Amino acid sequence: MSQSNKSTIAVRNGIDADKHHGAVVPPLYLSTTYSFADFDKKRDYDYGRSGNPNRDILADTLMQLEGGEKGIITATGMAAVHLVTQLLNHDDTLVIPHDCYGGSYRLFTSLEKRGLLKVVVLDLTKPESLEQIAEIAPKVVWIETPSNPILRLTDIEAVVKAAHGCGALVAADNTFLSPALQNPIAFGVDIVVHSTTKFINGHSDVVGGAVIARTKELGEELAWWANNIGITGSPFDSYLTLRGLRTLKVRLKQHEQNALAIAKYLEASPFVEQVYYPGLASHPQHELAKKQQHGFGGMVSFDIKGGLQDSAAFLTSLTQFSLAESLGGVESLICHPATMTHAGMDAQARLEAGVGDTLIRISVGIEDVEDLLNDIEQAFKKIQPGNQGDSDSAKDFKLSPAHTVLW
Ligand SMILES: *Cc1c(COP(=O)(O)O)cnc(C)c1O
Repeated sequence: MSQSNKSTIAVRNGIDADKHHGAVVPPLYLSTTYSFADFDKKRDYDYGRSGNPNRDILADTLMQLEGGEKGIITATGMAAVHLVTQLLNHDDTLVIPHDCYGGSYRLFTSLEKRGLLKVVVLDLTKPESLEQIAEIAPKVVWIETPSNPILRLTDIEAVVKAAHGCGALVAADNTFLSPALQNPIAFGVDIVVHSTTKFINGHSDVVGGAVIARTKELGEELAWWANNIGITGSPFDSYLTLRGLRTLKVRLKQHEQNALAIAKYLEASPFVEQVYYPGLASHPQHELAKKQQHGFGGMVSFDIKGGLQDSAAFLTSLTQFSLAESLGGVESLICHPATMTHAGMDAQARLEAGVGDTLIRISVGIEDVEDLLNDIEQAFKKIQPGNQGDSDSAKDFKLSPAHTVLW
């Protein structure tokens, strides 16, 4: 399927299908229950948890964009992650990457503590992990690429080969790129998971999730569980998420264009130690990114020169970036993983994941990039002159009381 086909699917799926009034945009069905057409004659829908037209259009659109055979819409991204774990019995093993989304890591390890499944943590970017998968013979291998926050890539095709070689399923969390920029099913992945909260909805106003299965059979099993445990998404959330999804391709294009400009600017800046962006030729997995992605995405991370104080001085001087967690909205967000998204990790684990005090993550929005670059430049200048690369000289920096709560 070509990119232009996908744009058309995202824009047109479900459009002008209303038989009653010719509504061009699919109407919002809030009704929790649906009347039977006659005795023992059910219509398409009977009860809102089990099925809803708005949820179904969103599921169908995402299914087509990912190239799967069945889509399931869940109330949150974590509900989508949780849904996949329903496939495992207590003696089944789930292989997870050491740097997967913190919420997923917490869920998997909590389920393991209760004896509901077994977890093995691997660094899937290392070739030896592929041999370990064959030895473990897990039920499911979980991948997340690019990873958060330093955008390491996992070779999807290689993991699929190793997993399928020992009868394991592969699930991929595709939140960071969205179906516009990466389609894991094309490489044989069995289940794609999304937090639609991020790029798919794209406007930071709905929390939601999706699971797309490569085969109808696997999709039906997951859909059965979603209804059974009651985690399906709401009609209004589905309606809004579909509205966001309509513009996915054009948003991602602008996110990416802005992100590349910012990554290049940061790479050339004397205030920056290292930039992490798969679109830069200097990224160690730039070639892999070109092979398995349709683009490089809107997330850029970097290490600022200096120490914690310099990160704070920079972050609190910005005016066009909101200091906030989450990602994928049209507005630029900036985050300090060590004190925000990854604050729950112990210091050692954080360092192993590459999350030091100087790491900064940007979810680059679709604003005029000149405004973003000017803002970054003025904020760098707020770091005390001559301070870059020397954290000691920042010792006089005073945190305002409003910001001390961060650490
Ligand atoms: C946000 C996120 C999730 C969880 O999704 P929610 O919508 O917050 O429940 C899962 N995986 C990744 C990669 C995420 O960024």
